[in-house]
Amino acid sequence: MIQSDIDLQPYNTMTIAARARHFCSANSLEEVREALRFAQAQQLPILPLGGGSNIVLTGDFPGLALHLGMRGLEFEVLDDGVRIRAAAGENWHQLVMRSVELGYGGLENLALIPGNIGAAPIQNIGAYGVELKDTFEQLTAIEIASGELVTFSAEECNFGYRDSIFKGPAKDQYLISEVVLKLSGTWQPRVSYPALQQYFDEQGLARDALTPAQVASAVIDIRNSKLPNPVEIPNAGSFFKNPVVDAGQYQTLKTAHPELVAFEAGDHWKLAAGWLIDQAGWRGFRKNGVGVHDRQALVLVNPGHRCGSEVVNLAREIASDVQLKFGVTLEPEPRFYP
Ligand code: FAD
Ligand code: NAP
Repeated sequence: MIQSDIDLQPYNTMTIAARARHFCSANSLEEVREALRFAQAQQLPILPLGGGSNIVLTGDFPGLALHLGMRGLEFEVLDDGVRIRAAAGENWHQLVMRSVELGYGGLENLALIPGNIGAAPIQNIGAYGVELKDTFEQLTAIEIASGELVTFSAEECNFGYRDSIFKGPAKDQYLISEVVLKLSGTWQPRVSYPALQQYFDEQGLARDALTPAQVASAVIDIRNSKLPNPVEIPNAGSFFKNPVVDAGQYQTLKTAHPELVAFEAGDHWKLAAGWLIDQAGWRGFRKNGVGVHDRQALVLVNPGHRCGSEVVNLAREIASDVQLKFGVTLEPEPRFYP
């Protein structure tokens, strides 16, 4: 079941060609444990893989690329909502659409996010004002060092803005095998984002009569209109996180650039990274087969199926230009391997 010298191009949505010294697709807990024993015996680093939509391969991976393919999806109807148990290898968007079809609300703003369930807690996926943590109950993970199962509550996951314990103190220590969500029986649409408001205005749909299916459909239409489908134009979604700055830096920027796109986040301000990159003149840029999407400057694209270093070089050029022009530091959102 463990293969050697495998091309990872089909396993990352940036379509970067890089080889893994070993590769394995595990479809059960026992297969995961077997793969872990193999890696431990040879002291190999592990690259956990879901849909590969939030990674950048900067070179060959010298260890075991382990695809988590476990399947299983259960809906349990409760007095006050519904509980969803989903195995790591289930596709996120299909889970959202299944819950919407069954009439359950809570996940519709997160429609069309690529990738699998197992990766969703890693960065607490979010879109249009909703995050995984809003419906998250708990997860089960396999501790890499011991092969033991461990559960994490929402509090233990320490979710933040595109962040969790799995990017911090628990980084590289666990493989998430199952996620449990709880959707409330009292659903309210969350449609505060301007793009959603505009969509419903144009369609003549009253906000207080919306269904989860209508919101999902709006999110899908809007996303399709501005985000590149990775199957057609390779990409890893937003390449940079939205920088969060203090009130002083925000005021200075707002004075210099009155049209600055920013949102209050507690006593700080979240800047729209896409706006900064666009203003710096990068939208639609192309060089050496890589570039910046022409309808959303936050998305770097790899239509030439180039290697990771081309993507990283472009990202560095953009970040240093934004630093120069706005004094703002951009940090990549996807994880770089190795
Ligand atoms: P991968 O890319 O396979 O992995 C991501 C990270 O998680 C890696 O570090 C990997 O090692 C680790 N990992 C994967 N599975 C496991 C597991 N079972 N256990 C432990 N670690 C694991 N993100 C958002 O938050 N909001 C969006 O709206 C959004 N839109 C996107 C749009 C596009 C077009 C694209 C390409 C990406 C978008 N993303 C978005 C980013 C991405 O879809 C999410 O981060 C998603 O959760 C990644 O899932 P994946 O299965 O592809 O993860
Ligand atoms: P958008 O709607 O054009 O908005 C631009 C930026 O402004 C976003 O970054 C968003 O922050 C912020 N924003 C807009 N309205 C806001 C509000 N009412 N309150 C707080 N912040 C607001 O963004 P887009 O690029 O088309 O993406 C739409 C949604 O999908 C966003 O939520 C985005 O995060 C998500 N998305 C994520 C990825 C990814 O890879 N991570 C890729 C594509 C889309 P937030 O980003 O914090 O929401």
